[in-house]
Amino acid sequence: MSDIFDVVIVGSGAGGGMAAFVLTQAGARVAVVEAGGHNLDRDIRHHQWPWELRYRNQYQQDPVQMTLKTKRYVVGRGETDEVIVFDGSAHRNYYNDHFFVKFRDWRYTYPEGSPYRWVRARAIGGKTNCWDAGALRWGPIEWKPYSYDGFGIDWPMPYEEMAPWYSKTERLIGVAGDKADRMTATPSGEFMPPQAFNCVHAVMHGAAKRVGYTVTREPHAKITQPHNGRAPCHYCGRCGQGCDMGAKFTSVGALLPVARATGRLTLIPNAIVREVSVDGHGRATGVVYVDRYTYQERAVRGRYVVLSASAIETARILLNSKSNLFPDGLANSSGQVGRNLVEDTACSVSGSLPQLEGREVVNEDGYQCDIMIHPCVNIDEKTRSKDFMRRYIMHMNGGFGMGGGPDGRVMFGPEIKESARRVAGSGVSVTGAGCGLEDPNNYVEVDPTVKDAWGIPVARIHLKNGPNQQGMVRDMVRRGIELIEAAGGKVNSYSTAPAVAGANIHEQGTCRMGDDLKKFVTNRWGQAHDVPNLVLADGSIHCTSGITNPTLTILTMTMRNITHLAEEVRKHNV
Ligand SMILES: Cc1cc2nc3c(=O)[nH]c(=O)nc-3n(C[C@H](O)[C@H](O)[C@H](O)COP(=O)(O)OP(=O)(O)OC[C@H]3O[C@@H](n4cnc5c(N)ncnc54)[C@H](O)[C@@H]3O)c2cc1C
Ligand code: SF4
Repeated sequence: MSDIFDVVIVGSGAGGGMAAFVLTQAGARVAVVEAGGHNLDRDIRHHQWPWELRYRNQYQQDPVQMTLKTKRYVVGRGETDEVIVFDGSAHRNYYNDHFFVKFRDWRYTYPEGSPYRWVRARAIGGKTNCWDAGALRWGPIEWKPYSYDGFGIDWPMPYEEMAPWYSKTERLIGVAGDKADRMTATPSGEFMPPQAFNCVHAVMHGAAKRVGYTVTREPHAKITQPHNGRAPCHYCGRCGQGCDMGAKFTSVGALLPVARATGRLTLIPNAIVREVSVDGHGRATGVVYVDRYTYQERAVRGRYVVLSASAIETARILLNSKSNLFPDGLANSSGQVGRNLVEDTACSVSGSLPQLEGREVVNEDGYQCDIMIHPCVNIDEKTRSKDFMRRYIMHMNGGFGMGGGPDGRVMFGPEIKESARRVAGSGVSVTGAGCGLEDPNNYVEVDPTVKDAWGIPVARIHLKNGPNQQGMVRDMVRRGIELIEAAGGKVNSYSTAPAVAGANIHEQGTCRMGDDLKKFVTNRWGQAHDVPNLVLADGSIHCTSGITNPTLTILTMTMRNITHLAEEVRKHNV
């Protein structure tokens, strides 16, 4: 391609979509280079019934898969060792399988005995196609973790600087939620009215209030009123499979169409970026990619390059961008590219509410509401824990779902009829989701020998959960059990170990931002210290994994940083 674009953006998910939106609005000619493809009419099929899909939507694992031993407590059976198969399929089914990568081609490695589940979407819109749209602000304490617990680092900016940008982002993407009755680590934002409760939510909300928690509906980027030409949610309950009407925020539904309407967006799909190219002065000149289907190598040139390939892949592209000027990879004079990979911590307790057994079957399976318990540990001196640092939230959910059986088994015939009549609609889950702990020993490097199907060296991922995550999970489990019992319910099972590393799909922090160019990869605006016309716009620049749910912060930070870039370019400062 001989054209020189103003900006080349790699990736079209949360970060890339927002960067394309801001830049095209500012008048820039932009190329978005995206490893995946997408056909909205064909790919989003969430209004089909499960039994119309392959194998009645009972998902068959990717034949190339990995396993991990973990522990689980099941009432009546006690604690058991379990083998979990992991290829990302916990989030997959035949509605959304085509968004996710096949491990066979999109390889990566990890050290023996320390598996990592790297869940990746390769599609226009990235993981926002399948995300659950939990859209949490991170409050003041999350931006100053070092000041509070003496561990890690503070971000280069305080919450107060981010708050107006959060508001702008929420107004743009549409977030429904209700306001907390007191300020916590998860402040309320610019919300439209929340979704309704179903019976399980109402019971659990009451129980949580009685126990004394601050409890609201979790903010979700799923609109409940018409918004910027998008129709409101109709509660089909299929958010993880895409949302063809655009009620759930996705990059492909809410940002890219607006960018395209300016006439300044060129989308290059099925283009797997191998490296960022540089000139003799060390400035980025564009990217080199391999065509996903023809395997031909091509280049796209631009005056500025924005990397939004998501945290691990952005580090991989930088580390693969070696040259005489940058022998250790691009933007890596600090040696920090790939370091401090951090990932959220989560676990869940499941049970049932006998008072809801045998109730009238109503069409509530699509109520995509989630009851959220705001952080209650480590939010001030009074609540400081001796067992772990940082904070977590809890979600509570349940109701009439589709497919499978109430205890997760596949059932047929009389058994499923009997069980559906009796217990369906009474199941409940309490899920804890919280901060991981950044650690320089958790990192991404390029594997010296393994390449992917396109001949590009793959990422080797090192991430271990430590005692902090175990302490947090114990606390989550204890409170989850207490909540189900406070609601008059029975606990069925819970995890006793943190989830497989990576399973929470909230990877961040491989190219952290900070003022000191010897310690950080980018400045406070996401611009690489070593290469000023290169900007990172995804979770790679995050200094911590916040309270959990990073995507609203990725969108907000990108809006802020790319607006800054556009202003600096206008002033000829970059
Ligand atoms: C099932 C599921 C549920 C989730 N729920 C939530 C939630 O409730 N709340 C929350 O905050 N977050 C949630 N997430 C996480 C959320 O989706 C991510 O945080 C967010 O999408 C990250 O944005 P990103 O732009 O960094 O990456 P992505 O959205 O993954 O976008 C990266 C893009 O880059 C492209 N790309 C990657 N490598 C290359 C390359 N080499 N060349 C060219 N293009 C490339 C990819 O194809 C992709 O389109 C969820 C994710 C999943 C999968
Ligand atoms: S429940 Fe609402 S937001 Fe989710 S897929 Fe259906 S219409 Fe979209």
